[in-house]
Amino acid sequence: MSTIRPGSTIGILGGGQLGRMTALAAATLGYRCHIFCPEKDSPAAQVAAAATIADYTDREALARFAREVAVVTYEFENIPHAPVEELARLVAVRPSPAVLAICQDRVKEKEFLNRIGIATAPWKRIVDTATLDNAINELGLPSILKTARLGYDGKGQVAVKPGQADSAALWASMLAAMPPPAEAVLERFVNFEREISVIVARGPDGKHANYVAVENRHEHHILAQTIAPARVPFATARRAEGMARHIAEKLDLVGVVAVEMFVGENGDLMVNELAPRPHNSGHWTIDACVTSQFEQVVRAICGLPLGSARRHSDAVMDNLIGDAINRWPELIKDPDAKLHLYGKAEARPGRKMGHVTRLLPRKDEIANEK
Ligand code: AMP
Repeated sequence: MSTIRPGSTIGILGGGQLGRMTALAAATLGYRCHIFCPEKDSPAAQVAAAATIADYTDREALARFAREVAVVTYEFENIPHAPVEELARLVAVRPSPAVLAICQDRVKEKEFLNRIGIATAPWKRIVDTATLDNAINELGLPSILKTARLGYDGKGQVAVKPGQADSAALWASMLAAMPPPAEAVLERFVNFEREISVIVARGPDGKHANYVAVENRHEHHILAQTIAPARVPFATARRAEGMARHIAEKLDLVGVVAVEMFVGENGDLMVNELAPRPHNSGHWTIDACVTSQFEQVVRAICGLPLGSARRHSDAVMDNLIGDAINRWPELIKDPDAKLHLYGKAEARPGRKMGHVTRLLPRKDEIANEK
């Protein structure tokens, strides 16, 4: 793959804060970004050189977009797959549409993970009430029912508790939450000790750089806080990082992938989800690492050498969700807090409006952050 040189234009599907922070990182290396998304005045378009406001299925707009950019990436995985495949015939799409297909479908994702030897929570594929009944019998309760596609931040999920397993009603609620074809997974509820994630960047030459494993705290299924590094034993963190590198390699990834995991009570690791793009649990890397996750994705998709993922500081990142954004005047008074605001006009409940990262002296020296 030839290098896409600074001065070229990077196309980004999606206009949210991840696209915004990618565009800002791209600009530091002299690239321009062209955002493609259906919303006007999106956080990403506010800081980009160009924007197309069109539906993801608008073929003409996509073909025009393809002519204007040197490479395309995406900042969320819930984009329809077929138009991305078409786009990939016109211009390089990285990570590839094949990676997107795996990561936007929980059934494909879990099959992939299990096939390459990575543990997940025990799960079953559900297509109707009968398969749900069988799965409840086999997996036991409590379990969680999740739509195969178009779920994020806990949307399209329902807890199935002992004594409350009315499979007809449960399946009806899933059908209401997903477009056809109807497909879901039932997952055994994991009594995890904590949740961690690892972000890995991988270039077209197969070289990779991983960030240290971090710890994530969710509230109402939405990430509230990331603590870097994760407060887990040394061996657990290194094992998690090794798993994430293995996943990136088996995906033949060009870009970055976030691997979310559960840590069990005896240190066992199960992967919950993959995101083939910069991730909320990597926002701390902007302020605490030599190279941020956003700069890494730019480097990877343009065929530049990856930067160092080494952290120079420990960090705690808090999301500013909904009305929490109103705390900005107080947060900005802390000279050691790095405040990031996403330029969103309206603070709806559950909406990610910004984040704040507090830097702390690094407590240990870990050799394998490359
Ligand atoms: P997901 O949408 O799959 O990322 O799930 C969102 C959050 O729900 C996770 O970060 C966990 O906190 C929780 N969760 C999801 N699946 C399970 C599970 N099998 N057992 C326990 N908690 C879960």
